[in-house]
Amino acid sequence: MKTLEIRKSLRKLISGDVLWDKDILNFYSVDSSLYQVTPKVVVIPATEEDVISVVKFAKKNKISVTVRGAGTGLVGSALNTGIIIDLKNLNSITVKKNYSIIGAGIIKGKLDQVLSQKGKFFPPNPSIGPYCAMGGIIGNNASGARTLKYGSTIDNLEEITFVNGKGEKITLPTNNKISKNVFKISSKIEKEKFPMVSKNSCGYRLDCIKSIKDTHKILAGSEGTLGIVLSAKIRIRDIPKRRLLVIVEYQSLRNAAKDCLKIKETNPSAIEFVDKSTLKNFDFKFKKNTDCLLFVEYDSDIEKNKNNLKNFADGQIAKISKSRKEIEKWWKFRDLALSYSLKSIKQEDRIPHIIEDATVPLEKLGNLFSIIEKLNKKFHTNTVMYGHAGNGNIHVRIISNRKKIKILDEISRTYFEQIIELGGTITGEHGDGIARSRFIKNQYGPTNYQLFKKIKEFFDPEEILNPGKITKPRRFSTLEKV
Ligand SMILES: Cc1cc2nc3c(=O)[nH]c(=O)nc-3n(C[C@H](O)[C@H](O)[C@H](O)COP(=O)(O)OP(=O)(O)OC[C@H]3O[C@@H](n4cnc5c(N)ncnc54)[C@H](O)[C@@H]3O)c2cc1C
Repeated sequence: MKTLEIRKSLRKLISGDVLWDKDILNFYSVDSSLYQVTPKVVVIPATEEDVISVVKFAKKNKISVTVRGAGTGLVGSALNTGIIIDLKNLNSITVKKNYSIIGAGIIKGKLDQVLSQKGKFFPPNPSIGPYCAMGGIIGNNASGARTLKYGSTIDNLEEITFVNGKGEKITLPTNNKISKNVFKISSKIEKEKFPMVSKNSCGYRLDCIKSIKDTHKILAGSEGTLGIVLSAKIRIRDIPKRRLLVIVEYQSLRNAAKDCLKIKETNPSAIEFVDKSTLKNFDFKFKKNTDCLLFVEYDSDIEKNKNNLKNFADGQIAKISKSRKEIEKWWKFRDLALSYSLKSIKQEDRIPHIIEDATVPLEKLGNLFSIIEKLNKKFHTNTVMYGHAGNGNIHVRIISNRKKIKILDEISRTYFEQIIELGGTITGEHGDGIARSRFIKNQYGPTNYQLFKKIKEFFDPEEILNPGKITKPRRFSTLEKV
């Protein structure tokens, strides 16, 4: 079918908007990654029925459908060539005591606002969180600082309703027949090939399906390749009454890494990390030889933990605060680490990220820092690092001249090989997308990769949902825009 015919047919088919003017196509051709892929048409459904009609139309006419949230993804996972579907109109929120039912298009900032009025919160809080759509957060299995205590998105989902590649509306785990099939496939995994980490957004999380009651979790981190999430039942919690934030200074990355293991035993709600390149942006005088900081937050047993930490942390305590206002100020510094790191790098030395969110078992965090040190020596690069140290999840930004961009491929291969050897994952939170899908087979081995293909075939036999991501990775044309 010719492009214009597709556009016009969709316009006749659904009640929502069907758009294809140049500006719209340009807008939807980029996200927060370095890639640019122009779609044929953008569809903004008015109803769930519209979504079903679009998928059935796409299947019949063999056109791809890629669902997009707010387009903040860092690896090009919401970009594709066919139909882009934006669920911004599916934005309902119902709040109950311990759960909320949300439409996939609701922006997390709005959800946070509604929940906080009822004294509740949804724990996964990516730094960019307020601007993401919940569909995108589920699609990426996003996490954040407090994942340490409360888990990633996958750990906070109770039920998902979605449209598969055949245009069928399914709710998991309540659909028993489909749940049994998903569980059957997941029970065949080679468990030892799955990373032993506390957060993981690589491939399909078959390892999290421990019974037929868990089958909805297959959608988390599936990047719109198995189904288009329409709505979800998510777990919510009471906002803690008090918080304590402790900023600890270290003279070496390795000492900070060692302390993380001890601190984690005290049940903190977060252990976050920034390296010394960020320090100059803080409105605070650190010691001259400070190499990095840990942000340790508690939301329970405040007094006990305050004293505990004083007694056994090897680092120097720079600041302890219980004031909500002051805590927010410090978290803002941490959340802006990416922006500070970019500001500190000359434009021509900014290399697009690809190795930016590997995660290792916490006891291997020191090894991750050593790998980076060696890579810097070997490739004559520098790095800025920050991230979720308590989860062994470090964001790495490479600094090197852009003209040497070709070394990025070699750096990625070398880094990922070593991360996998340490029992880690190549992506703890940002997902595979265009940037990393080609590394998934190395991560999980051929048996598990075959099962990924099986689960894809089960939900999307014609491969119309976001093709080229996760299974059958395809190289897209790229436009550097960092
Ligand atoms: C500055 C910055 C800081 C960040 N910090 C963090 C962080 O601390 N922790 C963290 O985990 N992540 C972080 N991220 C990444 C963040 O998790 C993603 O950007 C976010 O989850 C994507 O949400 P989105 O609505 O923009 O989705 P999009 O980028 O639009 O889409 C992301 C993926 O989800 C899929 N998707 C979208 N909607 C649906 C749906 N309805 N059904 C099925 N699949 C769907 C898309 O197809 C795509 O594959 C950061 C990103 C930026 C730019």
